[in-house]
Amino acid sequence: MIERRYVTGALAPTKPLLAADRCDRCGAQAYIRATLPLGGELFFCAHHGRQHVAVLREKGAEIQDESARLSATPGTAGDNER
Ligand SMILES: [Zn+2]
Repeated sequence: MIERRYVTGALAPTKPLLAADRCDRCGAQAYIRATLPLGGELFFCAHHGRQHVAVLREKGAEIQDESARLSATPGTAGDNER
């Protein structure tokens, strides 16, 4: 079985967050990445992201927020229109 990976790393401005990316605070799956101006990245889950993103932005960090994917909860939008 071949696992295909698209990791170029060359000209990728924003990499999607992966399931392997974990919140630095609680270890949950990360949905928010903060790229620090001095280099380095921090990862946060949606919960901790909300707590820290504002401060990090003030420090000049670049925030990549993918927590919107969380709101796509299955079950709410079904095929039940008649
Ligand atoms: Zn967390």
